[in-house]
Amino acid sequence: MNNNKIAVVTGASSGIGEASARALAAAGYTLYLGARRLDRLTTVAKTISGHAFALDVTDIASVQAFAAALPRQVHVLVNNAGGALGLAPVAEFDEDQWLAMYQSNVLGLARMTRALHGKLLASGDGHVINIGSIAGFETYAGGAGYTAAKHAVRAISETLRLEWLGKPLRVTEIDPGLVETDFSLVRFAGDAERAAKVYADTRPLLAEDIADAVVWATTRPAHVNVDQIVIRPTDQARADKVFRRSGAS
Ligand code: NAP
Repeated sequence: MNNNKIAVVTGASSGIGEASARALAAAGYTLYLGARRLDRLTTVAKTISGHAFALDVTDIASVQAFAAALPRQVHVLVNNAGGALGLAPVAEFDEDQWLAMYQSNVLGLARMTRALHGKLLASGDGHVINIGSIAGFETYAGGAGYTAAKHAVRAISETLRLEWLGKPLRVTEIDPGLVETDFSLVRFAGDAERAAKVYADTRPLLAEDIADAVVWATTRPAHVNVDQIVIRPTDQARADKVFRRSGAS
């Protein structure tokens, strides 16, 4: 059931991006996927008859080459690539980690939006979905590099709605709470034991829970803009307030 619409997902080699790509394909979109790990990306693309291209959103030339490989019209851009690095307090923050988080979560999202603006407009009903986070409006100790970056994503989403007023372009921000993906593995530089503790004795969201929201927002009628969707697991009341059956904090 092809709907003749094109969707682009950044960071589709794992987690929320991969699940969103699969769900959009099931909803009839033709998918163009981008990420740095081309082997994983190609495997995902094959299973949904989509297209995979290497993409590093921190690299302007890579973004331009990726955009050049896309069709003339793009209906949906899911700005998903990003994540967190480390958990150091502000007084000891790591320059490289903070720069990398701003590069992917903030500048990468802006670069992709700039590069695809014309193609989104050409579709007659373009839609940008920014994957933000509850970290975009909440904070937690050790999280300032990431929360500041996601606060910036929120500012960009709101600004886009102002700048695109009167154009056939929609902007939705989806803000997940705790989702079990490779997010914590990446944050803790491959330390699987430390990453597992983030999801221990609680019931986090699955990437598919967020993908559901991506598809729902994109399939509303063209005159309906879903501004923001906040989704947390029932076991989470705030970024740093998670219910654990073991009683641990
Ligand atoms: P994940 O499984 O680690 O996925 C991150 C994806 O981003 C990967 O596909 C990765 O692909 C891609 N990526 C990272 N840097 C990139 C770059 N420079 N260029 C292109 N792609 C890049 O984690 P996830 O949880 O699905 O994260 C997806 C998004 O959800 C992120 O923006 C994250 O901040 C947000 N989020 C996650 C949670 C959570 O609890 N998991 C909660 C709220 C928001 P490559 O490594 O192959 O490039």
